[in-house]
Amino acid sequence: MIVDIHTHVGDCINGGGLSEPYDRPPRLLSDLFETSGFRLMGGRRLFPRFSRYVEIIHNQERNNLGTPENILAYMNRFGIDISVLQPIEPVRSTEDNLALVGERLRTFASVHPLHEGWESRLERYMETGCLGLKIHPIIQRLSPGEPAVFDLLEAYAPHGRPVLLHAGESSYFLNERSPSRFGRIGDWEAVLSSFPQVKFIVAHTAMEGWKKAITSGERLPNLYVDTSFQSVSHVREALRSLGKERVLFASDWPFSLQKAPLRVIASAAGGDAGLRRALLCDNAHAVLGL
Ligand SMILES: [Zn+2]
Repeated sequence: MIVDIHTHVGDCINGGGLSEPYDRPPRLLSDLFETSGFRLMGGRRLFPRFSRYVEIIHNQERNNLGTPENILAYMNRFGIDISVLQPIEPVRSTEDNLALVGERLRTFASVHPLHEGWESRLERYMETGCLGLKIHPIIQRLSPGEPAVFDLLEAYAPHGRPVLLHAGESSYFLNERSPSRFGRIGDWEAVLSSFPQVKFIVAHTAMEGWKKAITSGERLPNLYVDTSFQSVSHVREALRSLGKERVLFASDWPFSLQKAPLRVIASAAGGDAGLRRALLCDNAHAVLGL
């Protein structure tokens, strides 16, 4: 069985409905990242502006692939049994994800802790069967030090469920509508250490902040990572430092298709069937309580 703990449907960037849903991904320069098994990531340091443009176009274009029909078709194509959808309120609502939940699709919850009534919405979502809480500091414009983040986590912690925290300095818009700096994993360390009882899954192993994510994880036993957008060598390093139980397979579909991240897992696990099963399935069951 394969569980993909980090996927999206609907418009998770701009809000509203998808403007031009695609049946298949348009060909883009950024396809190189996937075909290279994410070894070609990291251009941000060398060509910051250029790689920013490439990333914005990638995110906006792939966003349009995220229909419920497409995710099921891609899951069938690459052998994924369960995908966990991630809402990002207010752009993609938890309710819209809950409406899709069934045997193969599950969902996390999302609330915005500066929008009135979030406490009761959070309670309702968790009672309705959400498996965890998604926080996207960039799209939700939540800086790691702000009191609202602590309020949210204080209310959420008693549920005993995990948090999927977007990490990495991603870009979605040309302007400051989504401040990339809020995704710096180092700035979230104080939050993670304030809630040692909450398991935080650092999405994308913090993209280019992967080294920082791993060293933080050596100090913080409640830090987990997902493998989306990471190369085999980075996943191996995460396994060496964090152990095999804190690394979870994810694609971040539709921003990456499932094919490349599945290949990364196959290479990272090599002939170790137990490790492969841990990464693709057992760890997700343990952390998400599936
Ligand atoms: Zn995400």
